[in-house]
Amino acid sequence: MFSILKRSVYLDYNATTYVSRPVRKTINRVLKYHWGNPSSGYQKGKTAYNIIENARKQVADAIHAHPHEIYFTSCASETNNAVLKTLSNHFYPKKKKIISTPIEHPSIMNTLDFLETQGIVVQYCPVDRFGFVSIKDLERIIDEQTFLICCIYANNEIGTIQNIQKISAIAKAQNILVMSDCVQAFGKIPVNVKEMGVDYATFSAHKLYGPKGIGAMYAKIGSPLEPFIHGGHQEEGWRAGTESVHNIAGFGKACQEVSNLISYANETGLLKDYFIEQLRTIKTDIRINSPSENCMSNTISVTLPNIGSKELMMMLDYYGISVSSGSACSTRINKPSHVLRAIGLSEKAAEETIRISLGKNIKKRDIRHTMKIIEKYLKTNRNL
Ligand code: PLP
Repeated sequence: MFSILKRSVYLDYNATTYVSRPVRKTINRVLKYHWGNPSSGYQKGKTAYNIIENARKQVADAIHAHPHEIYFTSCASETNNAVLKTLSNHFYPKKKKIISTPIEHPSIMNTLDFLETQGIVVQYCPVDRFGFVSIKDLERIIDEQTFLICCIYANNEIGTIQNIQKISAIAKAQNILVMSDCVQAFGKIPVNVKEMGVDYATFSAHKLYGPKGIGAMYAKIGSPLEPFIHGGHQEEGWRAGTESVHNIAGFGKACQEVSNLISYANETGLLKDYFIEQLRTIKTDIRINSPSENCMSNTISVTLPNIGSKELMMMLDYYGISVSSGSACSTRINKPSHVLRAIGLSEKAAEETIRISLGKNIKKRDIRHTMKIIEKYLKTNRNL
């Protein structure tokens, strides 16, 4: 007989992270003492303004950019919308085509769908069974109408890390701009926008132990930049609106921890291997959808044949264990993951897939505990 205690185990760090203590302290301090409007000319306003500029430098330093290249937004979904829509506006109708991948986050995919209704042509470059972009196909589909290549750096569902440097080099040779959604990569692998060669990159604080409701755009100096929200002159007139000073300060603080987070991420690789090994001992026919190389060390996408992921997730949730089947933004739409479909999984296999994403504070015992519940689930459904 099993006796399994309910214990909270959070295994969904790609959905969001908790807010770290130093970040919380920073936010509370700003909320309590520095609530002035950063656009006000008196001392209280200037202090708030300086807090923002300090955070801008912290974000810039963490991605090897210049502070003038950083623009704050409310989240990465907004930033992805902003880059795609303002660039389309800038180039259309002279140039009409965006090349992307079929494994982007919904904030890219759905924006591209919308832009297609406005006359933009979107072509998706095929990916292989682990989600790697086919460079040959990319070179083939570029044409004189192409103004942008949009490619996620590290995939949120399967963990695949693209060779953005190579993609940028191909784009540059044809005078095409490159944007990369770096939301998941940031804090898990080094992000150096200069080495990557991108023109635009997007970020969100809540994936690296920062607060929700704050994102950022990197735009290389000299890249086209049209106002996204018209109004005041905040963010150089690109995005009007009084800044969320406490969240910006929290984002900056979170960025100071990035190198520690990356070293920590290297350690999660061992836990990930342990998890896969344990899973294989209780179910031999699993399929690991995450690549074994060039993959985020915290992310495991695993298909458990003949096991509905929804039922399994409900059971895990009952025991206090949080895992997901894919992007948190797609959880409520009840459709098999477009990422899993794009890498060749059938609808059925996609519905038998769960995503585990590890983060700070996960211990081997948490994995053993999770494994016990999965084993219990398999035993109670013996025909599986
Ligand atoms: N891009 C990727 C790859 C993500 O994983 C997410 C969040 O899950 C986003 C964009 C959207 O970020 P935000 O929640 O800040 O809008």
